[in-house]
Amino acid sequence: MCIFCKIVNNEIPSNKVLENDDFIAFHDLHPKAPIHVLVIPKKHVDCFQDAGAEMMAGITTFIQEVTTLLGIDKTGYRVITNNGEDGGQEVYHLHFHIMGGAKLPFGHMIDEPHKNM
Ligand code: 5GP
Ligand code: ZN
Repeated sequence: MCIFCKIVNNEIPSNKVLENDDFIAFHDLHPKAPIHVLVIPKKHVDCFQDAGAEMMAGITTFIQEVTTLLGIDKTGYRVITNNGEDGGQEVYHLHFHIMGGAKLPFGHMIDEPHKNM
């Protein structure tokens, strides 16, 4: 069983922000922004590439509820999902990073600008 499925099953603790029948939001263990929350579906899906439209519709509304609860719906935030090896995915259970609480820097996505970009 993957680490986020263990969080779903309460086998390992998490600092939960919001939960409903289908999704959970909890604080990232190693925050990279003043607010850094992860949103996951309770049903195991490896990554964004495997996510269906119905799940994505539900998770969109859930993320909007979470950002409102966190008080960053008006100030702004970033939603990120890392997909697969080149995307830098470390945990293979679909999750969205919600980051906010400060004006976030952007850039340094790759070390050198790619010649074909
Ligand atoms: P990824 O690189 O897969 O997009 O992000 C995985 C994220 O999960 C990382 O930001 C990491 O800090 C977080 N993380 C990994 N293990 C745990 C855990 O056991 N609990 C919590 N709350 N976050 C975790
Ligand atoms: Zn899982």
